[in-house]
Amino acid sequence: MQDPGQVVLAQSAVQLDVDGVLEVRFAVGLPACGRRIDGPGAVDLLTERVPALVSSTLLNGAHDPDEVERCAATNEDADHLRSALAARGLVAFIADGSSLPRRSGIGDQPLDPEEAIAFLSPGSMRVRIETPNRGPVTGMGIPEGLTLIVGGGFHGKSTLLRAIQSGVWNHEPDDGRSLVVTRDDAVKVRAEDGRSVSGVDISPFITDLPGGEATTAFSSSNASGSTSQAAAIVEALECGSRLLLVDEDTSATNFMIRDHRMQELIPSSGEPITPFLDRVEELRDDHGVSTVLVLGGSGDYLDAADLVLRMDGYRPYDITIQAHATAKAVPTGRTAGARGPLTLSDSREIDWSRVQPGRGRRAVNVKSPDDRTLIFGRDTIDLAALEQLVGRAQIRAIGLALAWTSRSHPAARMPDALDMIMKALGDGLDTFDDSKTGELAAFRRYEIAAVLNRLRALRVG
Ligand code: ADP
Ligand code: MG
Repeated sequence: MQDPGQVVLAQSAVQLDVDGVLEVRFAVGLPACGRRIDGPGAVDLLTERVPALVSSTLLNGAHDPDEVERCAATNEDADHLRSALAARGLVAFIADGSSLPRRSGIGDQPLDPEEAIAFLSPGSMRVRIETPNRGPVTGMGIPEGLTLIVGGGFHGKSTLLRAIQSGVWNHEPDDGRSLVVTRDDAVKVRAEDGRSVSGVDISPFITDLPGGEATTAFSSSNASGSTSQAAAIVEALECGSRLLLVDEDTSATNFMIRDHRMQELIPSSGEPITPFLDRVEELRDDHGVSTVLVLGGSGDYLDAADLVLRMDGYRPYDITIQAHATAKAVPTGRTAGARGPLTLSDSREIDWSRVQPGRGRRAVNVKSPDDRTLIFGRDTIDLAALEQLVGRAQIRAIGLALAWTSRSHPAARMPDALDMIMKALGDGLDTFDDSKTGELAAFRRYEIAAVLNRLRALRVG
């Protein structure tokens, strides 16, 4: 995946001209530049380390022009494809020939080309989009609405969804997914046992908890699978997403389905959960929310689906017609319906006095020790379930942006605060970084909201 930290290097390079040589120091050790120069102490800083850094990164001759051109062209084409989605009523595009699988579950390296089966779109879903550098590109367009990705286990369903969820970012030319693009409001939502939740209205999905706890402003320091997944959906919609990505592998079963037999056995008065199945059409029809859902274990969603895609041997097939015929021939027998209409709220107000980045004598204690953790003030925020985060540089940038926001008389309403942060981001990542140490990567409003929503000290009104 492309590290947006490269942008920061370019920024620091500009500062070299404007502010003088000391600014270059900040670029030393940037992993993004790939030219870390180690030397004993700072004595040789100006005589050796800085000149070596400048000649190996900032000067034109340090770079292979063809490689620079290829990276720029790849980015431009991906941006172009992504911007072409909305007008075509698409939420994602996967180019033919893409290589989606990764070498391992923990890294982002592509699987060896000899082992990977290249993506090939089904004829009924094939679209052709012009790009500025490659000319026309063909591939599979996923339309707005409810799309199911079904198929047997190990046939590549989750791999396809992971490519879609990372398609909100551009990739490096050799990633295999550089022409996989997704509408940039896509949010992967999943169950996340144990996360903290602060004042979220999960009542569209969960009401009447046995303890009598209200769910219109639900808070928990240890949410369950279903309450955490409900909160993730409501939070994504609160900050403007209209595209949810869901995988059965990372979902709470009781949040996703409740079949006929279980409806018979446990009356709805004894079940606090309205499963996603009973809200998914309402989300689409009344609120314009599209969903791409990976599902191998339950056919109860077939009736509601606009498109059913089968993964078979890592190849997608459009089986919508058969799926609808099956749904008709084999009724679920379940009673559909939710308790009352779903209303989306965006009125949560953040108590920014609780978002404290300092610790002891440090005014800003923000660290990203690994790619799944943010240390923010006295809190350690577990980000392991945020699958769309791209790494430490982005996590650090989010931490610094939250620290900057807490000092800037921010708007209280979550969407207004996010607007303010994204506007500041438009001036460059250095806005958030008093020390100008670099190593920051850009983020979307959804990442910043997701991190803030997991801060255990967060309180909302
Ligand atoms: P599912 O979600 O359908 O159970 P996964 O997406 O987890 O399946 O894929 C199962 C395995 O197949 C994974 O190890 C994955 O890397 C591999 N895989 C997925 N897509 C491809 C492909 N196009 N070519 C080769 N291997 C693939
Ligand atoms: Mg899977």
